[in-house]
Amino acid sequence: MIPYGKQNITEEDVNAVVKALTSDFLTQGPEIASFEKAFAEYIGCKYAVAVSNGTAALHLCALALGVNKDSRVITSPITFAASANCVRYCDGEVYFADIDPETYLLDIKKVRALLENHPKGYFQGIIPVDFAGNAVNLEAFRKLANEFNCWIIEDACHAPGGYFIDSKGTKQFCGNSNFADLAIFSFHPVKHIACGEGGMVTTNDEALYNKLIKLRTHGITKDSNLMHQNDGGWYYEMQELGYNYRITDFQAALGTSQLKRADAGIERRREIAQTYFDTFKTNQHIKGQSGVIEGHAYHLYIIEVNNRKELYDFLRSKDIFCQVHYIPVHTLPYYKSLGWKQGDFVNSENYYQGCLSLPMYPTLTKEEQHFVIDTINSFLNG
Ligand SMILES: *Cc1c(COP(=O)(O)O)cnc(C)c1O
Repeated sequence: MIPYGKQNITEEDVNAVVKALTSDFLTQGPEIASFEKAFAEYIGCKYAVAVSNGTAALHLCALALGVNKDSRVITSPITFAASANCVRYCDGEVYFADIDPETYLLDIKKVRALLENHPKGYFQGIIPVDFAGNAVNLEAFRKLANEFNCWIIEDACHAPGGYFIDSKGTKQFCGNSNFADLAIFSFHPVKHIACGEGGMVTTNDEALYNKLIKLRTHGITKDSNLMHQNDGGWYYEMQELGYNYRITDFQAALGTSQLKRADAGIERRREIAQTYFDTFKTNQHIKGQSGVIEGHAYHLYIIEVNNRKELYDFLRSKDIFCQVHYIPVHTLPYYKSLGWKQGDFVNSENYYQGCLSLPMYPTLTKEEQHFVIDTINSFLNG
């Protein structure tokens, strides 16, 4: 069976987890801090906060930025529902802007139009997504956000190690928070780095960092500098309503071990992307991206075809399990119940009709990839 994505657990990973499991700490031990430090270095930001999953990371970001029932936040319809749900957890209102049909990313021109069609202050935030691993130009989004006094949460779940080139020619790595207020990652096994379940928030903002740390663990602090009184060694203060969104020490140990191979993984993903692109670029049945893109982290390799369902079923019959990313969020029954409807975002809906994510993971062998390619060709050309 060839899936669309798959984790890669080595003996070194297993040893790291066993070491953590046989240490004194299962939950809040030293592995969490070292994972955070290593990840912050990898991404190039000041602070990293490890949490239980990517969705919890998004929720904490929305809380830290003060999303409430009066907040209106813009995101992309082509993302995992969690990018939007985090606003709903805090009773805020989700708005969508359509994607650019070439890049599949939130179209900044559509976001600008939406912002300009409302009075200033109507929207509080934007959540761009580095969809499929393609880095959003956050320099441009920052400029726009500043004009309208909005914050930015970068959903970088697909793109640890991805980057865009800014106007000065500098590589800006996804999640480095030079332009976004906060960025988030997921360590679900289909993503680049696996912890089982796991997530991370990254930022350069110390005040936000302190909020995240507290909210991750019930809103409780034990820092005597922050407490109103101190009754003794046992004393702590719960200062606001927080959650238990902690990761465990052995998951963090797995994350640190996996992180060491992150760049090698991206290199292999880019190779696989190049092979798909070279093979399919002359096939008139396949509409895909314009080429292998610099800085793209290739969490997914997506093609667009006319007879997607038939191709999907045919591949499944050959034990190739492709996937569709994503059903447009505004067409999910829950978001429909909030008033969104089919027809609201035509580019996203058209994209959804034909998109298919092909197998893409570092341990996909050349033979497996050629089997996938041959099977697709035999269907489309046969
Ligand atoms: C995976 C993912 C999430 C959620 O992460 P979990 O760790 O599964 O909670 C959020 N946004 C995007 C774009 C994702 O791909």
